[in-house]
Amino acid sequence: MKTLLILFVLLSGMMLLDRTESSSQKIFDVHLHGSEGPSSQVLALQEAGVYKAAISTSWDLQNRYRDFSNISLLYGLMFPCANGKVPYSLQSCFETGEEWPSISWVEQQIMEKRIDYFGEILNQYYGISPSDSSLYPYYTLALKYNLPVGIHTGGAGPDHGSPNFEMEMGNPLLLKPLLSRFPKLKVWIMHSGDQYYKEAISIMKDNELVYTDISVISNPDMVPPEKFSTIMKASIDAGLEDRLMFGTDNGDIIKVMNAVESIDFLSKAQKRKLYHQNAERFFRKSEKS
Ligand SMILES: [Zn+2]
Repeated sequence: MKTLLILFVLLSGMMLLDRTESSSQKIFDVHLHGSEGPSSQVLALQEAGVYKAAISTSWDLQNRYRDFSNISLLYGLMFPCANGKVPYSLQSCFETGEEWPSISWVEQQIMEKRIDYFGEILNQYYGISPSDSSLYPYYTLALKYNLPVGIHTGGAGPDHGSPNFEMEMGNPLLLKPLLSRFPKLKVWIMHSGDQYYKEAISIMKDNELVYTDISVISNPDMVPPEKFSTIMKASIDAGLEDRLMFGTDNGDIIKVMNAVESIDFLSKAQKRKLYHQNAERFFRKSEKS
């Protein structure tokens, strides 16, 4: 029995070694949503090199991710929810079925350390601008607690189930009023604006606290690799290499990593920034930590 135990310990040690060797790339996935199988989802990410991820999904499902210790998770707050539902999965965002969580409830969750950032902000699915004044009390709260705010931009896949979705509301130029009203807010443009990537770049050039993530645009199942390369080239040429963050949006992480690796003009140092260093800086809670 003892020998068996020793053998088991040795074997698991070897497996661990194997895993760390095969995933030499440290990855912070800033754009994750819930899945039907949280354990296998988290394990697959870990095996690909993910040590930290930012997850947002229905509040109920999100709570099922609180016990994982193999990767470190940051928890978001998804809203506003058309008809109270998460797009695509159509789960209720909140137990009460509400579209907008109450400010007092949100603040309570922040104080109990159950919310690390706001996002994915679903204003486009809801049919309003990210600078709509109904969002301002939430931005005020984010600023008060120094929480980043991730805003969905670009387009959407089919069957999202949000009847008021508006393509034009995914244009990052709509962030202008919000950024001038809250210049210290840490905002990230999710999906790098996708088809509005030039607008995303112009906003980032004017606002140095604004970051982006490369989810969807880096997924070859959704966007052609040449398009991803064009967007990356434009971003790097604009001097934004310190503000691009890696994200999968539940896409196949191996395909997304391969897409990044196949961009030949990215240096190793630029890839390290993209894979985790920029996100670490963006999500840092205070200057000291
Ligand atoms: Zn999105």
